[in-house]
Amino acid sequence: MNYIFLGPPGVGKGTQAKRLAEHRSLPHISMGDLLRDAVANRTPVGVQAKSFMDGGKLVPDEVVCGVLVERLARPDAKAGFILDGFPRTVGQAESLTKTLAENKVTIDRVYDFQADRAALIERLSGRRFCTKCGHSFHLKALPPKQEGICDHCGATLVQRDDDKPATIANRLDVYTKQTAPVSDFYRAKGQLTVIDAMAAADQVFASLLKAL
Ligand code: AMP
Repeated sequence: MNYIFLGPPGVGKGTQAKRLAEHRSLPHISMGDLLRDAVANRTPVGVQAKSFMDGGKLVPDEVVCGVLVERLARPDAKAGFILDGFPRTVGQAESLTKTLAENKVTIDRVYDFQADRAALIERLSGRRFCTKCGHSFHLKALPPKQEGICDHCGATLVQRDDDKPATIANRLDVYTKQTAPVSDFYRAKGQLTVIDAMAAADQVFASLLKAL
């Protein structure tokens, strides 16, 4: 099964993608995670991507499309995948369509997670991530048992630089201008299902399972 998860930053698509990936034993392919790894390892892609990410801008299509092609070529993606945070422009969607067609792979369904802007700002600004195991928390909705410490591995929790207020506004504007048209691209192909993501994560996951 091959799925694409779309939606604005902070809508919770990463959390839902991780849950579905475990539930269906599929690889969760997060472009944001791939890029953050590249930045941390100072690879050529990471060096190119860093300034765009720091400013809440999109990394150029040719860079992310290259990262995706390499990731999809890995053996675990042959049995299916969940794409999270890709495509984010119509150009990326067209490039993905071409790559998949060349490999005789089809997308089964595209899920578009939606929540209002105020909820997205509140979710993004309260997010905290574990520096070691990557688990995510939220100051209000999912607080760690001990402030600033990961419940799972005891490492320190941090806020992503791009979850700080000035960058959040920029990311949401970039989403409206550049990524929202991707939903229209898949709607026109009859592949899009909208998921209301205003509810708590468990309820959203239940809606997703029902829609699958
Ligand atoms: P995310 O973790 O999905 O919120 O992504 C974090 C950042 O990585 C974004 O703000 C962009 O700078 C970059 N990024 C992630 N996915 C893409 C993509 N498909 N195209 C361009 N930039 C991306």
